[in-house]
Amino acid sequence: MPSDAYGNYVDGTWTESDSGDTFELRNPADPDEVIGRFQYSTTADANAGVEAATAAQPGWAEVPAPERGDILKETAKRLEDRKEELTKTLSREEGKTLSEARPEVQRAIDIFYYYAQKTRDYRGTVKAASGTDSNLYTVQEPVGVAALITPWNYPIAIPAWKLAPALAAGNAVVLKPASQAPNVARKLFECLDEAGVPDGVANFVTGSGSEIGETIVQHDDVDAVSFTGSAEVGSHVYDSATDGKKRIQAEMGGKNPTVVMPSADVEQSVDIVGAGTFGVTGQACTACSRAIVHEAVAEEFRSGIVDYAENIDVGPGVEDPGMGPHVSESELQGTLEYIDVGKQEGATLEAGGGRPTGDEYADGYFVEPTVFSGVSPDMRIAREEIFGPVLSIIEVGSFEEAVEVANDVEYGLSASIVTDDHSEANRFVDEVEAGVVKVNEKTTGLELHVPFGGCKRSSSETFREQGEAAMDFYTISKTVYEGY
Ligand code: NAP
Ligand code: MG
Repeated sequence: MPSDAYGNYVDGTWTESDSGDTFELRNPADPDEVIGRFQYSTTADANAGVEAATAAQPGWAEVPAPERGDILKETAKRLEDRKEELTKTLSREEGKTLSEARPEVQRAIDIFYYYAQKTRDYRGTVKAASGTDSNLYTVQEPVGVAALITPWNYPIAIPAWKLAPALAAGNAVVLKPASQAPNVARKLFECLDEAGVPDGVANFVTGSGSEIGETIVQHDDVDAVSFTGSAEVGSHVYDSATDGKKRIQAEMGGKNPTVVMPSADVEQSVDIVGAGTFGVTGQACTACSRAIVHEAVAEEFRSGIVDYAENIDVGPGVEDPGMGPHVSESELQGTLEYIDVGKQEGATLEAGGGRPTGDEYADGYFVEPTVFSGVSPDMRIAREEIFGPVLSIIEVGSFEEAVEVANDVEYGLSASIVTDDHSEANRFVDEVEAGVVKVNEKTTGLELHVPFGGCKRSSSETFREQGEAAMDFYTISKTVYEGY
């Protein structure tokens, strides 16, 4: 490519957009540093991606599944060879610390190995036929062409957990990465290319969500749409995909609670809530943002979590501090606005509450770990996704009240309880409205081989992602009756 901008990857070639336009990406810890320029693609570029996928998909489906698996395994190896480079790329573009970025890159590697193996295991089931001399079985076939739309907050893990099962199952794809963090996803496509994914099977097109995203979601030749991002965009994408009779999965935001009961060790509760809230700068869909605390331990918990927040050292992700910056100025502004809302609503600011002071923080999108107490369940800071390191402490008088408050939001992604009471733990698992429930663990952190998804406004509640559930999304079953 002639210009210095990074390309789209369409039909096996790195290409420039028709538009001739590019957009610039900067380091959120140091916005003077330009990370790269990316294609500001047009509808025509997006259509070219879908056309390449449509042409390549039947051939890819005919490749024996274990051979597809070998290519995924080779991709994993290439990611592994570049692990440190990818870790730094991720940290520089998205802002998370190296200690947070490294396991995310490892997650992408593990995902490719996992689905490489699944190609050998996943085909269908044999059942007993009612007739004599007959077979009855199912085969799983690829859905066809999938549009994959991903957010910036896990910019390699989420592309990986959509791409690997889609490709394992014999689909072709077009991925539209988030504009705020496309570089590490671009490098993933370099690995796919070098690993020998045939031309056209995996396409990568950067540009505006409302143009490129819309185009691929609505394209007649796209059979399935897998979206992860905000509830606002996700519900719109859901409507256009279902209007077009496409298979859709949409995983969206959260307002995740951790309930702290008096039987729990308070120090352990503080660690669980602190890690869940302030990890990855609170920019996780599963981040804890509500501590629902029994009044018997509320004071001890409050002083513990304030201490925890005040002891986090904030700094550039690449220096591996306790917490990195927000990904962008608009995300920083969003968090600062919610902090103002909390103050206006009458919550008590206990820790943080603004940008950290000092020369080293002057330009980057840094914010302080922030804690509010005295939050009531009807306040906006207790109901809306903030997507930053802001915790609301809500006091309750009983287990029943805790569950009621936990469930009294539009979202239902992840929820946890800290308790030593076996019965309470099990009742929480039964009664809480969430797709992921944890006992004595933080709300964040997922294993790759079990289903993931939310309920209520957090999810389309159609298909789960990850584990074998992901293979269900990317395949459709055919039932075969065979008399012989
Ligand atoms: P977002 O603003 O909804 O964007 C997500 C993706 O959709 C981006 O690639 C975006 O492109 C694209 N997009 C925007 N408008 C579109 C349209 N009209 N049609 C099709 N695509 C469109 O989300 P985000 O800010 O990147 O990510 C943060 C959100 O993701 C949070 O709400 C978080 O909770 C959620 N999330 C959920 C999960 C989960 O698994 N449940 C995981 C991670 C994050 P541009 O970047 O070009 O705008
Ligand atoms: Mg957004």
